[in-house]
Amino acid sequence: MTTATANATQLKKRSGRAGPLALLLRNHLAGFGLVVLGLVVLTVLVTPWLPLPDPNATALSDRLLPVFSDGHFLGTDQLGRDLLSRILWGTRVSLAVGITATLVAATFGSVIGLLAGYFAGRVDGVLMRGIDMLMAFPYILLALAIVAVLGPGLLNALYAIAIVNIPFFARNVRGVVVTLRNREFVDAARLSGKGNTLILLTEVLPNVLPVIVITMSTTVGWMILETAGLSFLGLGAQPPQADLGSILGEGRRLIINAPHVATIPGLVIFVLVMSINLLGDGVRDALDPRLKAGALLRPAARTQVANEAKTAARGEQRGLLEVKDLHTEFRIGQDIHRAVNGPTFHIEPGECLGIIGESGSGKSVTAMSLLGLVASPPGVIASGQVNYRNENILGVSDDRLRHLRGGELAYIFQDPLSTLHPLFTVGDQLVEAMRAHHPYSYREAWDKAVTLLENVRIPNARERAKVYPHQLSGGMRQRVSIAMALANEPQLLIADEPTTALDVTVQAQILKLLNQLRREQDASLMFITHDFGVVADICDRVAVMYAGELVEVGPVAEVLANPAHPYTQRLIACVPDVNRKQGNLTEIPGLPPKVSDLPVGCKFADRCDRAVERCRQAPIDLEPLTDQRQARCIFAREVL
Ligand code: ADP
Ligand code: MG
Repeated sequence: MTTATANATQLKKRSGRAGPLALLLRNHLAGFGLVVLGLVVLTVLVTPWLPLPDPNATALSDRLLPVFSDGHFLGTDQLGRDLLSRILWGTRVSLAVGITATLVAATFGSVIGLLAGYFAGRVDGVLMRGIDMLMAFPYILLALAIVAVLGPGLLNALYAIAIVNIPFFARNVRGVVVTLRNREFVDAARLSGKGNTLILLTEVLPNVLPVIVITMSTTVGWMILETAGLSFLGLGAQPPQADLGSILGEGRRLIINAPHVATIPGLVIFVLVMSINLLGDGVRDALDPRLKAGALLRPAARTQVANEAKTAARGEQRGLLEVKDLHTEFRIGQDIHRAVNGPTFHIEPGECLGIIGESGSGKSVTAMSLLGLVASPPGVIASGQVNYRNENILGVSDDRLRHLRGGELAYIFQDPLSTLHPLFTVGDQLVEAMRAHHPYSYREAWDKAVTLLENVRIPNARERAKVYPHQLSGGMRQRVSIAMALANEPQLLIADEPTTALDVTVQAQILKLLNQLRREQDASLMFITHDFGVVADICDRVAVMYAGELVEVGPVAEVLANPAHPYTQRLIACVPDVNRKQGNLTEIPGLPPKVSDLPVGCKFADRCDRAVERCRQAPIDLEPLTDQRQARCIFAREVL
């Protein structure tokens, strides 16, 4: 193995994402289907070499022998032919016809779908209307009609089954190609001078291949059944040739006298088609990127919480909300990503606490853990407490949590376009938010929604309540999300970078508004940001986060004037200042440590110019500096 492939394998392992085969085998039903189908296929492949009688050799003296007779393990049929031999050879025929029909249908259907989707316009019109005509007939009837025209026979049954299945492939493939044809990578290929054929083959086809494979794996079982159906009716395999359908058809007349002649081929069809379908469903789940990304994992409605984090709050808690030693991790494959490593902080009533740190430092995961919003799996709250009014939120019932979320504890997300529902008017969404918590009538709630929109300074609120999110600008949308968060008079607002997606002037307006509303309603605010300028504007106290730990906590003015942790000093130095004479901005060299592989000692040591041996040896504690300030650095006291 070259180093490059070794690295790639390692990376793959590290990323914790299983390959399609591993995903397939993890699905027990699909694994079962694979084993059964594997056995069936193996048996029919070696059939010519097995010591079996000729499947067509008749022996009238041995007619209708029962199962387990001497020399005839599964007995014989009405002409004295060995059933075991006939069924194995028949299964070979059925499988071959089903698979060939699938390949034919997939090839023609995919080509039609690719052309129709890619060229659109008239090509699409002609091809897809043709497909519509095929689909206008009940397809088994259409298959019968085609065989009736071509004449009975196995090959003609194959054609008929393939033709009636072409529309499934054509429509599925066209649907995907239509969404791909205007994507940037296709435009880029066009700009690079590639012709249509090359684009179709190298850009579009690889992207629809999974769809084709999925459709094949889910239709092949059907096609085997349909071929068997035609043979059963006498339109497929003609004697002496036999497939499972025709054996079943012949046995049907003997169902009273010799039931095994019909039951055994019936059972084989059942087992074969079921194993193919189980496997097909597994293949679909493993190949569909949306399912692979975790849709199959069924994220729970709240984050999974380890038992030790559910213990009830004891004694008097500090402030309105107190977070104690919170540990949230993501368990992906073999790896544990420790995103939040024991922050302890509290928020007083009416206070604004800023949580600041670089991207990836664990701010969002901390905030989402408070309300159980981290997706599980893979997220787990391993230990800690989140006490709100002497109640540990991590341990409350689902009902109580639902009552708190959006009620006393409200959340404002970073990107208002992705948090507002695109298909409902903003007024309706506000109404819904209120009616989830109060028994208002629709009218009442609507009037309140309008008042809320006026409160967040949206002009002409009564009309604006009737528009959809996409009809508002970014700043307006964020005002709507703020109005939604304020709808049920929260005690605590958690705002996760609510202004990062906005431009600077709008950001200033929103911050001012948020702060004003908070004071009017006397709510606490937990404000997450990566910008010290914003913290200086609206926060009372600030907690600096790095690699999931708090590295410094204190009143904003003091921390700004006299930062104690080298990371805080660097963050403050990063804030652009228009008045600065020389324009050079300082940056923090290096990157935060990987949360799946955290260092033992100070997590900032690798990027710190003051780091010494002692910093790396053992964990550094968050030490109190004054009664208001704490820092996690052995040199912190020097700043006092
Ligand atoms: P930020 O401070 O920018 O808000 P986050 O709290 O979103 O950072 O992320 C903290 C760490 O947790 C990051 O290293 C991120 O890669 C990791 N993380 C976040 N969500 C997931 C997830 N669903 N699966 C795995 N790791 C995650
Ligand atoms: Mg974030």
